[in-house]
Amino acid sequence: MNGVRLGVIDGDGIGPEVVAATRAVVDEAVAAAGLAPVDWVPLLMGHAAIEEFGDPLPEQTRAGLAAVDGWILGPHDNASYPEHLRVAPGGAIRKHFGLYANIRPARAFPGVRATAPGIDLVIVRENSEGFYADRNMFAGSGEFRPTEDVAMAVALITRQACERIAHQALRLARGRRKRVTVVHKANVLPMTTGLFRDVCYAVAADYPDVRVDDEHVDAVAAHLVRDPDDYDVLVTENLFGDILSDLAAELSGSLGLAPSINCSDTVAMAQAVHGAAPDIAGRNRANPVALQASAAMLMRWLGARRGDHGLTEAADRIDRALAATLAAGVATADLGGLASTSEFTEQVRARVHRR
Ligand code: ATP
Repeated sequence: MNGVRLGVIDGDGIGPEVVAATRAVVDEAVAAAGLAPVDWVPLLMGHAAIEEFGDPLPEQTRAGLAAVDGWILGPHDNASYPEHLRVAPGGAIRKHFGLYANIRPARAFPGVRATAPGIDLVIVRENSEGFYADRNMFAGSGEFRPTEDVAMAVALITRQACERIAHQALRLARGRRKRVTVVHKANVLPMTTGLFRDVCYAVAADYPDVRVDDEHVDAVAAHLVRDPDDYDVLVTENLFGDILSDLAAELSGSLGLAPSINCSDTVAMAQAVHGAAPDIAGRNRANPVALQASAAMLMRWLGARRGDHGLTEAADRIDRALAATLAAGVATADLGGLASTSEFTEQVRARVHRR
């Protein structure tokens, strides 16, 4: 089996630090699994890309991404770009490559203080439409302001997008505890989120082995805090998924632990849930776990797609090494620990070789 070719984008803020920490762990895991080294393709986004090309997401980067098997995306801090360049590059990449599914697990690690120590769930977030103004229009924005005192936003929900995200959630549940909760707000948005719910139930008929129920998003927010163990896989539209996954991440211990991948049926991108954290950038203090665990998800996704058990093994090695490192009490400052980003990463690299 040939090695994988992965794009790698540092991004802004703590991006260069957590991306370097992630590459180091992936390289170690790939070697430990006996695979050929990853062929890394560095590409620019954010401030570095503005400096070089005058564009936070230049054509060169899009073209580079189109030629790799998947990629690791550092965070971006688009609020700090010059005003005329303030597009969110992450959203633009998701849209450009049709990465319609955002898979966001929230799992507590032994050894890390968590508000919900038993939490082990996955939020499957529809990524291509919903209430996101930059996602739901072919041209123009889904958010507009007819007069100075009036602002409006449109949401887009289509049967096709609901069907494909429902399949993602139901397939994922089959490999877990076989439960899916459809999250909506059909009491006040019966046409849009009601369609989402109804299509999910219709698709679920093909998965009789998976138990499916549904809940309003506000009820889920409360229920998640009270009884997070009640959930296995949650499937929902874009904005609800964004909010609930931050909540679930925090319940699991820290935003710095929360991984995700964004995928279509043919390509996947590893991206931590957290942002660029400019307040701690450049100080070797960032928690790299979220991106390292995202990279493990990417390796697992590629392993399943290519039928390559070596990649799955590399992913397992990263996950086990992260859990063992945290269980040993090694942690960065956001978790109350003393380890720097690079010290933590060295500890993970050493544990990647354990069977
Ligand atoms: P965005 O809107 O892009 O998600 P944000 O400003 O809402 O960005 P973050 O950049 O994620 O949020 O930062 C929120 C807080 O969490 C900050 O105080 C930051 O220092 C902290 N934080 C985020 N990620 C990490 C990390 N990997 N390690 C340590 N602290 C982090």
